[in-house]
Amino acid sequence: MKFGGTSVQDAEAMARVISIVKTRLKRKPVVVSSATAKTTDTLLNCCRTAAEGNYEKATDIIRQIKDRHIKISSELIKDEAKLEELKVKIKDLLDGLRDIIKGIYLLSELSERSIAKVASHGELLSTLILSYAFNESGIKTEYVDARDFMYTNKDFSNAEPLFDVICSKAPVRLDKILNSGKVVVTQGFIASTQDGITTTFSRGGSDYSASIIGMAMNAEEVEIWTDVDGILTADPMIVEETKIIDEITFKEAAELAFFGAKVLHPSTIIPAVEKNIPVRVLNSHYPERKGTLIKKSINEKDSFIKSITSKKEITVLNIYSPKMLLAHGFLKKIFEVFDKHKTSVDVITTSEVNVSLTLDNDESIEGIIKELSEFSEVNVDRDKSLVCIVGSNLKYIPGVAKKVFQVLGEFNITMISQGASVINISFVVDRDKLNDVIKTLHKEFFG
Ligand code: ADP
Ligand code: ASP
Ligand code: MG
Repeated sequence: MKFGGTSVQDAEAMARVISIVKTRLKRKPVVVSSATAKTTDTLLNCCRTAAEGNYEKATDIIRQIKDRHIKISSELIKDEAKLEELKVKIKDLLDGLRDIIKGIYLLSELSERSIAKVASHGELLSTLILSYAFNESGIKTEYVDARDFMYTNKDFSNAEPLFDVICSKAPVRLDKILNSGKVVVTQGFIASTQDGITTTFSRGGSDYSASIIGMAMNAEEVEIWTDVDGILTADPMIVEETKIIDEITFKEAAELAFFGAKVLHPSTIIPAVEKNIPVRVLNSHYPERKGTLIKKSINEKDSFIKSITSKKEITVLNIYSPKMLLAHGFLKKIFEVFDKHKTSVDVITTSEVNVSLTLDNDESIEGIIKELSEFSEVNVDRDKSLVCIVGSNLKYIPGVAKKVFQVLGEFNITMISQGASVINISFVVDRDKLNDVIKTLHKEFFG
């Protein structure tokens, strides 16, 4: 059972988590929690502030984090001795954080390794409080540091899990606790290298932690508890009249997550598929609602387009090389550049003289352009967004593309691509028209 930031944002939210977990005790839950809402952003802001030389402001941020977590604790924990014990632990954690922040300030240096270490404090704080609150409510609980079993490579703040190691370590650490009738409370997002250095997954990674643990423990189900009723037909921040998707396949959900539906971290589905574990997305504010069930296959007879998703901030690269395009090895040469810069490409379209690519992460763009320019002309467009329509039945329904592009007649659409999996149609639009495009499509298909 994974609870996201808003689901643990204050004492009231944590109390809801307790009552939800109480209904699942027979199923031996492992509770995976995010940091309290916005705390990860605040921590990242804190270490940047220190690296920029503003130690006072950085310590002020730590003070605010401390006040918030002490307040939640005081509202939740009634046993005075336990509350004092918890406060001491919170203080210790934040004293440790202040030392790290001081180091960052003194060196004016912010490495990925320090970022991961600083960011880990959000989840460490939230789970510490939760475990005290669980115990006080009568649920026998053991707090487990995820770094005892969640091992990753050394990409510190964007780490990749070492599945085999986790699958052997997690049961050793967790089975005994679960079999003794206790609930495990542990952190999402954070992990460790095999030599004990703290790492984190990419942002939003607690969903991924939950499905990795589900895989390692052969869970019967992974529940993602969040602040919406399930996976919706579009981003509710863009479209008001979204509908809930009752059931969706792993492939569709993976595609949606990959193409921007924030409700799931893009990698969440990978471990679930591996062991065929159903994933349920549920609303922690309304636990009685049935949410969305993600599983291997579903009865698709009525389904059509499942959902419309988007990535607002993409970078489009147009690579033009008339001499090279038909030469074999040209695409290889292009992709070697992206590989070298560890940058993944989302969508690719080619014409006779042009290769266009979209990138989600443009951190290394300067180096990439420099190298591509050695054998082609490159231009960059930063005013575009990517739209993706997902549904397994797209391949059986003639005329979907026609309908899509007919209703979007007034918009400028480029880079149309129907993935090889044939469960999505994606294309690029002008960023300032993105919301209109999504609203128009949603009205057409779900209105
Ligand atoms: P949590 O903190 O629980 O992990 P997130 O903020 O990461 O929650 O993800 C939930 C949010 O994802 C929702 O509040 C919603 O605004 C956004 N979202 C974007 N696209 C979708 C979608 N297709 N279905 C549901 N939610 C979506
Ligand atoms: N706290 C982390 C983040 O904000 C992980 C998560 O919430 O899933 O990115
Ligand atoms: Mg999330």
